[in-house]
Amino acid sequence: MQAFLDVMSLALCQEKCRACREDLKIDLVGFLSSPKHWKQVNRSTLCNSCFFKLELEPSSLRIVNNQGMAPLIVASRLPYAGPLKKIIYHLKYDDDRLVVEDLSLFLSQALQDLGKMVRVNDCILVPVPLHWKRKIKRGFNQAELLANRVAYRHDIRIDTRLLARTRPTATQHQLGKEDRKLNVEGAFQAQRKYAEGAHVILVDDLLTSGATLSSCASTLTDNGALSVSAITLAYAQVSKGGKTEKVRNLETTSIEKLD
Ligand SMILES: [Zn+2]
Repeated sequence: MQAFLDVMSLALCQEKCRACREDLKIDLVGFLSSPKHWKQVNRSTLCNSCFFKLELEPSSLRIVNNQGMAPLIVASRLPYAGPLKKIIYHLKYDDDRLVVEDLSLFLSQALQDLGKMVRVNDCILVPVPLHWKRKIKRGFNQAELLANRVAYRHDIRIDTRLLARTRPTATQHQLGKEDRKLNVEGAFQAQRKYAEGAHVILVDDLLTSGATLSSCASTLTDNGALSVSAITLAYAQVSKGGKTEKVRNLETTSIEKLD
């Protein structure tokens, strides 16, 4: 009987796990007992094995300190490791956009964490922009796709006009600490007419040293933004002595007190 169910589930489901590329099996018993359950299974982009390897953290607030720049609060729940690394890679380089909906759920959790310190409904989501040449080559900006889903789910404004990347930059996580800072220094330009008076939440796929987010934040505040914080899908583990530290027990501290 089990063998029959396995064959049927594979025949019905053409989808593969977005991380390990194994066939996703459908829980046929669940499907027959509850169509709603079927819908949930059908939307899943990870097999059980990969899903349970994600190390989702219960709390996600961090402060990014980059020399000469204001501290920035960033919420990010997942370490950049294991299956998540593969999924983000497939999204960016294999155009695997099916994962966006599910990945955006993790960003929604980060947004809820940020909501303990920032009035998120007064904010505008601003995806970290790609340089236009890279966006044309890739066909999309993954941060923008993710931010769109979060904006829709939480009924928050999203605006891509506030910020532009004015020169191409190398991928941050392959660079050393100092090079990361130099790589993004002066790489962004904000439009004052949209940034002025805005409370901004930057959205990106990955937090490394925070140099990119800090550079975006200082450009926005120089152009009149009242506050800037950020959510990212994942964070890269920072070696001891790095500039990213976990924020603990700050639920009752206001954002102003952190400056
Ligand atoms: Zn898998």
